[in-house]
Amino acid sequence: MTLPGKLLVFTAPSGSGKTTIVRHVLSTFENTGFSVSATTRSKRPHEIHGKDYYYLSVETFKLWISLDAFAEWEEVYEGQFYGTLKSEIERLTALGRNVVFDVDVKGAMSIKQLYPKETLTVFIKVPSMEALERRLRLRGNETEESLKKRLTKAREELTYESHFDVVIINDILADALKEADEIVQKFLF
Ligand code: ADP
Ligand code: 5GP
Repeated sequence: MTLPGKLLVFTAPSGSGKTTIVRHVLSTFENTGFSVSATTRSKRPHEIHGKDYYYLSVETFKLWISLDAFAEWEEVYEGQFYGTLKSEIERLTALGRNVVFDVDVKGAMSIKQLYPKETLTVFIKVPSMEALERRLRLRGNETEESLKKRLTKAREELTYESHFDVVIINDILADALKEADEIVQKFLF
């Protein structure tokens, strides 16, 4: 499969700063657009349906799987589904945009496999598990149970680092943003 635009896939364990870095890239580079994923997790207070995610019931998500609507999907946490809609990639590339993704490690590898020539995968890492836990607690969206789920998953996801094209260590945020700018500039232009 070939595409008119380029695909920039950000992946990282939850809490590593992916959303922060992705937002920065989207606002810095005008010729990019965000692939809004579908999810069955509940909406966080500040999030907007259609902008951050399309929030679906599990039944609807499964129906869309059966309709072949997803380029990739994963059950990222038990009972919680996330997926990239084919229509998002089509919508953004038709607008002449390069597509920016925020997906889990398996989703990132699937997109790379689907579009190997057009895709750059960027793995974002925190300096330590302690820093990751601190950031997840500070963000304040998690219960003790969901925090535990995310930390367990993060340990597994950290083992995938070598599968990606570039790694950014998000220690000092300003440095990580600068590094992201340089990587994106080089890839898109
Ligand atoms: P993700 O999308 O990977 O789950 P977020 O971008 O939501 O991560 O970041 C998790 C939390 O950590 C947020 O509260 C964010 O403001 C904070 N954060 C991001 N980068 C840094 C950093 N370099 N140092 C400290 N806190 C950070
Ligand atoms: P969160 O609930 O913190 O928004 O996201 C949890 C995890 O799901 C993150 O690692 C995020 O990147 C991932 N995710 C979000 N959208 C998708 C998607 O469309 N596909 C896949 N595979 N993972 C996704």
